[in-house]
Amino acid sequence: MVGADGQLLLPWLDQPLRQALATQRAHALLVHGPQGVGQFELATTMAQAWLCEAAQDARPCGVCASCRLVLARSHPDLLVLLPDAQRESLGWGAAGEGDEEKASKAKPSKEIKVEAVRQAVSFAQTTSARGRGKVVVMHPAERMNGISANTLLKTLEEPPGDARFVLSCAAPDALLPTIRSRCQAVVLGLPPRDQAIAWLAQRGLADAAVLLDAAGGQPQDALAWRDLGVDAALWTRLPAMVRQGDGAAIAGWPLPRLVDAMQKLCHDAACVALGAAPRYFPAGSIARGAQTSALAEWNRELQRIARHAEHPWTLGLMAESLIQQGRRALAGPSPSKPPPTGRSLHSPA
Ligand SMILES: [Zn+2]
Repeated sequence: MVGADGQLLLPWLDQPLRQALATQRAHALLVHGPQGVGQFELATTMAQAWLCEAAQDARPCGVCASCRLVLARSHPDLLVLLPDAQRESLGWGAAGEGDEEKASKAKPSKEIKVEAVRQAVSFAQTTSARGRGKVVVMHPAERMNGISANTLLKTLEEPPGDARFVLSCAAPDALLPTIRSRCQAVVLGLPPRDQAIAWLAQRGLADAAVLLDAAGGQPQDALAWRDLGVDAALWTRLPAMVRQGDGAAIAGWPLPRLVDAMQKLCHDAACVALGAAPRYFPAGSIARGAQTSALAEWNRELQRIARHAEHPWTLGLMAESLIQQGRRALAGPSPSKPPPTGRSLHSPA
């Protein structure tokens, strides 16, 4: 969003914001792009722009009464739907649906529940309090279950008068096709590398380029790695640690993060084995010598685990097993053992 200083929180959204505001013609938009580039921020900034009472140059002003209400998360014409589990990390945790669950100490939900979608539908049908329409922002839209999505679908088919919906997500393929087809797509790409590095450096990230690469160019994801305690030195050492089967420094990571790191390592080890440059790890941090067949097998196993990364595995056991798989896949061929796949056994010498 645009703050009182007139600056966007994520500077690389300037161009996409102008573009999206200039070309949007539907009452329902779907903002999507890779995780961590700011699709939720773009969605809320578009809402701020539509509700702004002094917008200039297709940007919200940041200082009018309406902008201040949006910044305070209390604009009567803006409803932001998030899973309870993400409200706090996205800075919308103070009020709303989460309170009940916090009181009951239930684990916060990772879904956008049907009750919340029903609430959004009736919100959209009421009259705008400040006269500039109503906006519902929903993120991540793929966290709607089937019932929630079908409830929303009816409203997207017959939109109430002056309401707009902005859905944002990182996985449009996980949405019902009928939802996708009713939304105008706004595609957000990776930010320019220099801009992302400067932004991360401003946030105190040393060697920002290393963590930006670790995050695949997604700046907010680079911050998430930093918040996990990862710095450039640890990331650079990680391939050698896994190759030695030493997981002490990483075994406590949340499983989705650990699987993500292993997938990146597997990808880069394959690049190095084929003589190409790594993408996520610094050049020189990955030893040559891994066999592509062993890496392909590791990759398949990681994909299988990634599909169930939120399954309540016994984290310690799973982490150890992941690291040992990595150790075996990264090791070169052992002179005393046959190659790891049956296919190789039958290959011509
Ligand atoms: Zn304003």
